[in-house]
Amino acid sequence: MPGSRPPQDPWAIPDVPILARFAHDRLAERRDDAGWLAEAWADPGSRVLVIAPGGTAAVTEGQDGPNLRMLSAAEADQPGIRVLLGAAGGTVYFGLLSDTEPRSESGVDWRGLRELGTLLTDLDVGLLTSAVALGAWHHRHPHCPRCGTRTEVAQAGWIRVCPLDSSQHFPRTDPAVIMLVHDGAGRCVLTRGPQWRAGRMSVLAGFVEAGESAEAAVAREVAEEVGIAVRDVRYAGSQPHPFPSSLMLGYTALLDGDPTLRVDGGEIVEAGWFTREEVRRAADWGSEPADLEVQLRGLPSAMSIARQLINTWLADQD
Ligand SMILES: [Zn+2]
Repeated sequence: MPGSRPPQDPWAIPDVPILARFAHDRLAERRDDAGWLAEAWADPGSRVLVIAPGGTAAVTEGQDGPNLRMLSAAEADQPGIRVLLGAAGGTVYFGLLSDTEPRSESGVDWRGLRELGTLLTDLDVGLLTSAVALGAWHHRHPHCPRCGTRTEVAQAGWIRVCPLDSSQHFPRTDPAVIMLVHDGAGRCVLTRGPQWRAGRMSVLAGFVEAGESAEAAVAREVAEEVGIAVRDVRYAGSQPHPFPSSLMLGYTALLDGDPTLRVDGGEIVEAGWFTREEVRRAADWGSEPADLEVQLRGLPSAMSIARQLINTWLADQD
């Protein structure tokens, strides 16, 4: 239902990954219908979500959390790319990927999807995730990859077409795998990237390479980053990650053989095997460092599929 928000319990396992939620129909069949689009845009009942150049959206504080501020087309009139996001409950939703920085207004806060993901309703998060993904794509891919000519927006913002060679270009989505590796005996691997503060640990992740399956990418990334072999690679759900254009494919994988971790030192600077008890305590930000035998302080945010893999593993028995 459009109004539902995810549970705020840090150990919750949501039914649907946080950024995979939506409650609208994308209306792909209307993207080519210029007459319908013009009419829908002019309809004072249609709602427009303005996305600022940096990917933020305006929110107002509601009774049970923030809500995206939606405008009429007349109110949203400013330079930018119009995109048809879809419809829900008889209302048509557009995005306006604005070229200009927002003016400050009282009672209105401009915030990003990373901050808002766990707070918004299913409807709002679905609309915002699509609009942010499209905004990042249009911003980063304005030219034809074949001939370099500036491309033109078509199909209500869902493709770009080269005016010189007529080639069509679609929003880019880069598959990435993210995997919780466990030993089947109560321990999982958590690692730290060089950009993270000490103690902040997460599961392994990496991009799928050209010509590679997602399952092969899981095994390769684990071997490259921590030097162990895995088997029994199991799919555990996906969610868009439009920062700027990833699709995160979640997996679990079982240790196969020697558990000795060998950190690559580049993408990963620290890695360890952790018990469920250690992982649960890692989320306790208030505890003193001396309370922890392991250097594990802080888990990924509830918005991430990493956290959902961890929470799901914690709830399991093996
Ligand atoms: Zn071209």
